[in-house]
Amino acid sequence: MFESALPVAYVAAAILFILSLGGLANQESARRGNVYGIVGMIIALVATVFHERIESYSVIAGAIGLGAVLGAILAARVAMTSMPQLVAALHSFVGLAAVLVGLSSYLDPGAELSGAAHIIHDLEIYADVAIGAVTFTGSVVAWGKLDGKIGGRPLLLPGRHLLNLLMVISIAVLAVLLVRADGDGFNFLLIMSAIAAVLGIHLVMAIGGADMPVVVSLLNSYSGWTAAAAGFMLENDLLIVTGALVGSSGAILSYIMCKAMNRSIWNVVFGGFGAAPPKGAPKPAEGEPGEFTEIQTTELADELKAAREIIIVPGYGMAVAQAQRSVDDFTKLMQKRGARVRFAIHPVAGRLPGHMNVLLAEAGVPYDLALEMDEINDDFPKADVVLVIGANDIVNPSAMTDTSSPIYGMPVCEVWKSTRTVVLKRGRGVGYAGVANPLFFMDKTRMYFGDAKDSMDKLNTALKA
Ligand code: NDP
Repeated sequence: MFESALPVAYVAAAILFILSLGGLANQESARRGNVYGIVGMIIALVATVFHERIESYSVIAGAIGLGAVLGAILAARVAMTSMPQLVAALHSFVGLAAVLVGLSSYLDPGAELSGAAHIIHDLEIYADVAIGAVTFTGSVVAWGKLDGKIGGRPLLLPGRHLLNLLMVISIAVLAVLLVRADGDGFNFLLIMSAIAAVLGIHLVMAIGGADMPVVVSLLNSYSGWTAAAAGFMLENDLLIVTGALVGSSGAILSYIMCKAMNRSIWNVVFGGFGAAPPKGAPKPAEGEPGEFTEIQTTELADELKAAREIIIVPGYGMAVAQAQRSVDDFTKLMQKRGARVRFAIHPVAGRLPGHMNVLLAEAGVPYDLALEMDEINDDFPKADVVLVIGANDIVNPSAMTDTSSPIYGMPVCEVWKSTRTVVLKRGRGVGYAGVANPLFFMDKTRMYFGDAKDSMDKLNTALKA
């Protein structure tokens, strides 16, 4: 009876996952999207646990219990700013699971297969283990880089493209050997796993700087494809559908992020973004690091009282300071005074896709005030005051003017075109890409130093006075 209900459960879960992705596409429906995803996952788990092939529940119950407790602790503890590290760590589990399931499936195929069916099964296992191993080690390195455990600069070995090519060719040759071994090729599978693991490390070590967001999204995509390959291997339709959904949505997100940063996906994977500029490269033409011009609270409050058009550019520092609620209070205060306040959201602001939207939504800032960078970039010349709150790389003019800059070519919020740009940060700290920012030394720029939340609170008090 349960077996006949299984396809229905799988279809229901797959539909819920698709609805979930649709819901997550915009802020108003994101909560609903999350609920669809949770319900879909519960259905999928229940259907899997009660599958007729399951013989013992004790191990499964232990694994689910342990996984649930660890997952709940991690989710409760993780700071929003550490989310990319957590995502990278979770992708590494998907990769490792794929490798282990693939290896055990080779040792114990379950059914006697022969001829083409056997070859196809071997290749399914091979693809699952290969993508899984790349995902596993690549995600561990990405976690290390995002968490600051490994240096952020790309590791560019001489002849690295040739090295990658050799590893890919060896993986392909080992696939032929495995198929020829006719069920006796476990060693080939192990050797390939080791090569794929090194490939994963090498690929991600070569990526650095501002390209890391794309890497997280790419690894997300890989983890999806590895799950889809596992679905074919285990003849599990839901795993195939879910894996394909994750794989393709991760690939689409990587493409969107690359477009937003004006990079090609191949450039990200092989480009070594964020490397030290070549020796003798010309220095930025304007805004050489020099003296900051500071502004004090009363003076800034006076400028804001006179302003009619205000644009806020939030960045990673706003997330660190947890300043979003104070920013919302500021918005309401200024609106009461008759000013128009809008937000410019850069596609890679913060440390995860949609980071700023999530924070602003959490603080209750109306969705229609938060505009994508492309929608608002032409309006900066009309702004009386632009408040850059804890942002750095995303407002760096050298991305447009300095060909030697590691972030050259990344579209940025053109805040310097406004009448007055005020930057809220704590000191001389650089942004994620580790490059100097000429904006801070421009004539029209004023630096308002301090933790972003403290600064916004002081400003709000002065505005109320
Ligand atoms: P940045 O990392 O470029 O700059 C953040 C700035 O915030 C720093 O210069 C820092 O200066 C300041 N800051 C830190 N803490 C505080 C605080 N408590 N109060 C006030 N200011 C603070 O952030 P952006 O958002 O401008 O750019 C995002 C960068 O992260 C890009 O390079 C992007 O590629 C990368 N990235 C993005 C991901 C994504 O998916 N969105 C994922 C991974 C990386 P100071 O120390 O002086 O205060």
